[in-house]
Amino acid sequence: MKPNERLAIPRQKAPELDVLSRINNFSEVTGGFDEETAIREANRCLQCKKPTCRQGCPIGNNIPGFIENLRNGKFEEGYWVIRETSSLPAVCSRVCPHEFQCEGACIRAKKGEAVAIGLLERFLVDWMVKNNRNMARACALPKDKKVAIVGSGPAGMTAAYHLAHEGYPCTIFESLPAFGGMLAVGIPAYRLPRDIINAEFAALKNCGVTVSNNITIGKDITLRQLKDEQGFAAVFVGVGAHSSRKLGIEGEELRGVMHGVDYLRRVCLGEEINLGDKVVVVGGGNVAIDVARTALRTGSKDVFILYRRTKQEMPASMAEIHHLEEEGVRIEFLAAPIKIHGENGRLTKIECHRMKLGECDASGRCRPVVIAGSNFMIEADAIIPAISQNVDHTADNGLAMQITSWGTYIVDPATLQTSVPWIFSGGDSVLGPQTAAKAVYQGKVAAESIKRYLEGMDLQEGRNVRDLS
Ligand SMILES: Cc1cc2nc3c(=O)[nH]c(=O)nc-3n(C[C@H](O)[C@H](O)[C@H](O)COP(=O)(O)OP(=O)(O)OC[C@H]3O[C@@H](n4cnc5c(N)ncnc54)[C@H](O)[C@@H]3O)c2cc1C
Repeated sequence: MKPNERLAIPRQKAPELDVLSRINNFSEVTGGFDEETAIREANRCLQCKKPTCRQGCPIGNNIPGFIENLRNGKFEEGYWVIRETSSLPAVCSRVCPHEFQCEGACIRAKKGEAVAIGLLERFLVDWMVKNNRNMARACALPKDKKVAIVGSGPAGMTAAYHLAHEGYPCTIFESLPAFGGMLAVGIPAYRLPRDIINAEFAALKNCGVTVSNNITIGKDITLRQLKDEQGFAAVFVGVGAHSSRKLGIEGEELRGVMHGVDYLRRVCLGEEINLGDKVVVVGGGNVAIDVARTALRTGSKDVFILYRRTKQEMPASMAEIHHLEEEGVRIEFLAAPIKIHGENGRLTKIECHRMKLGECDASGRCRPVVIAGSNFMIEADAIIPAISQNVDHTADNGLAMQITSWGTYIVDPATLQTSVPWIFSGGDSVLGPQTAAKAVYQGKVAAESIKRYLEGMDLQEGRNVRDLS
């Protein structure tokens, strides 16, 4: 095919559930490509000499490599190209914010629409599942030094995956009843079906990884005890960022105020929560959107989002915003809450300010400024602030681990070793709330460091590690 022919193919669309059939349940909204559509989309790739898409991918996946295999009908080979770099392709192909990562860096995005890299990756993974192919690398023979992994999110899963494939027995300790971190208790099932996460844990267990839930490190047992009493030679801490950031305004303690990740965690763990008919969500990122769409699915009728900037500044992906608006959630732009009013301990109204955009920083992001005297009231049954999260430090209880002013762990950027030499960390606990792919990358970097540490090798030598901060 000539480049002009490739350029003439329009970006292919994935099937989606229509609004009425998805709004009352948690069925997956976006479907995958069929074989014919996947090959047509793969034919849009120009196989650039300098594949910028690969630089845009936090894991550095060989994107042109798997696409070339796909368009030649070599689906299994294409899948294994992805597996060279990625421990969680089924997850990343569905939830990565592709428009800000690989697809944002695709050369075709400069003058039109990027190649649908995420959907092509998903096609290969789904094809392997549908055709009952073996999807995991062979396990290694066990070695004698064992590693503790604290937290079962993508960072911990990836560290365990790589260490187990080197033969190191690993135990993942998870404080919640469910495994998968924010993949399981944050991202709703309509974006990431739970059988995908369960399959990853089945593969880890198959390679000798032990998984223990309902154990909070720092409370039920300390990191020091894991090392001194239970014989773990090194520890990976991948505890994420699960502590909700507060709005810091009057009335936040009233009944009817619930923070975004706390609400999503409870729903994901099976609690039945109806927030009432009218729900106001505060924030402009993926968490706010997931909260709003989940509230609709748990019975709320009138859900809207308050965001203090405009649509252009929203950090959420365009596809998510599109789905949100399709489902009838309104976004009140340039507005921010200043006080929550209540009666008898329960919220009744939210007082807000109108905002305008002020000075912009070097990246072009403009500061929201209050418009004096613009106060207005919104009546609501619930308000859900979803304005970011901090790292919870229960895990390092009793150890003087160094942390940044943001509360994230200080690590060596090349090795992810913390200030305590036998402890390594990565993912949201180092980067702050970020993405699954960045957690996967850091889990892999940490696994390599832990292996070197256990084998008495130089941790730094020959490393070429991406700075994702
Ligand atoms: C609602 C929501 C939507 C998101 N959407 C996307 C998206 O679309 N795309 C994307 O790429 N990213 C998304 N993210 C971000 C992504 O999920 C995270 O960046 C990623 O999961 C971080 O991985 P992690 O392994 O570092 O931490 P986590 O996934 O947070 O896992 C940490 C785990 O450690 C456990 N833990 C904490 N403390 C202890 C302790 N003391 N003892 C034992 N266990 C402990 C926690 O319970 C948790 O299971 C979203 C996040 C949220 C909250």
